[in-house]
Formats: sequence, C-alpha cells, structure tokens
Amino acid sequence: MLDHVRNKTGIHLDASVLTLGFARRATAYKRLDLLFADLDRLQALVERAGPLQIIYSGKAHPRDHEGKQLIAKVFEAAQRLRGRIDVIYLEDYDMNLGRLLTAGVDVWLNTPHPPMEASGTSGMKAALNGVPSFSVLDGWWVEGCVEGITGWSLGEPATAQHEGDRWWADAEQLYAKLESDIMPLYYHDPEGFAAVRRSAIFLNGSFFNTERMIREYIAKAYFH
Ligand SMILES: *Cc1c(COP(=O)(O)O)cnc(C)c1O
Repeated sequence: MLDHVRNKTGIHLDASVLTLGFARRATAYKRLDLLFADLDRLQALVERAGPLQIIYSGKAHPRDHEGKQLIAKVFEAAQRLRGRIDVIYLEDYDMNLGRLLTAGVDVWLNTPHPPMEASGTSGMKAALNGVPSFSVLDGWWVEGCVEGITGWSLGEPATAQHEGDRWWADAEQLYAKLESDIMPLYYHDPEGFAAVRRSAIFLNGSFFNTERMIREYIAKAYFH
C-alpha cells in the first residue's frame, strides 16, 4: 500500500506511523470531513499523542455536488495540515485499491450520520485483514463493535438528533478517543494493539463474511 501511495503521489509515508484509512463513496451522509471539524484540535492531539497519517479514497457521483464538495474539503484540509499531518487522497477507488487499503492501514475510520449506513462493507473487509474499525455505531458496526476489543465506537447509535446537533459531539469524541484510547495503545502497547487486531479477525471476520451471507440467503430466503 505504501509503495502504491509513493507511486501515485510521490509521498513517502512512514510504516511506523499510525495510519487511518477512510475510503468509500463520497456523499453527504458519509461525513468525509468529520475528522477535520477542528484542525487546531487535530494538530494539538498529534503533538501530544504522536504522529498520524491518513489515506482517503472514494469517488462522488457526477451529479452529487455535495459529495464533490466534500472531496474538495479533504484536499483543503490536507493543504492546511501539510508538513504536520500527511493526508493523502488516492484517485480511482476500485476493488484493487479497496483491497490494498483495507489490509494496509492500521485503523479503519467510518463516520456516517446514523441511521444512513446500510452496512459498511469495507469495515468487514478491514476486520478480515486484522484492521480494527473506529466507527459510528451504524450499519454492521452496531453488532460488530465490542468496545476496545474489536475496535472502537464513535458517538451514540441513531437518535432523533439532526446533523447539526451531533456533528460537534461526534467530532469531539473522535478526537478524544484517538488521543486517549487508540494512539496510546498503538504507540505504547503494541501487544495490546495486536490483540485488538486478532480479535477483529476472530470475532468480526469469522462472523461478518460472505459465506455466512450466502448460507443465510439460501436457508432463510431462497428455500424458505
Ligand atoms: C468495499 C468497497 C465498497 C463498499 O464499502 P462501504 O464501506 O460499504 O461503503 C465500495 N467500493 C469499493 C471499491 C470497495 O472496495
């Protein structure tokens, strides 16, 4: 994955730095820009807790103007963070790139506005590769998240709160958990972090997979 990033962007990422991955269709409810809600806060936590690098990918539908604006916002944040936090946006998200990213990053980030996420398949692909999720409790993660064991939850499950109401609450918790839970574990307790990776495979990967899906379609839908 790091070779691919270098070939496409000329940027040399550091394999030892905590790498967040965020790749999915760029559309409003996915909130691509939640991590950049407060750039000063993000920079302050990196100064305190250790370095961070982030890889984004994902296309917007040609007629989805909000989705395109979100991609522009990520580029703008990347520009403003230059020299302090590497933020990469890889073009042409496809299954090959999805495969590289869901296996190559350290933590898979997903910040949709609940209850909009139908499933969140990429998090399951990450789990199979021993990459834990840090995600809003929506889609599959409502069932897959065992806090601190298979990964980390973000915010409350779907409530009646509107986008504007939960934006700052979710952003604050995103920064707080990165700084106090995820980064210390990654940098100061590599054995503990490895245990989360193994649990993601063992508890998530063994259950949230295509084999079970096909079996359940056959047993519960096709031949019911
Ligand atoms: C896995 C994958 C998706 C689906 O990911 P979600 O988390 O469900 O949004 C979409 N596009 C590509 C290229 C993928 O690899």
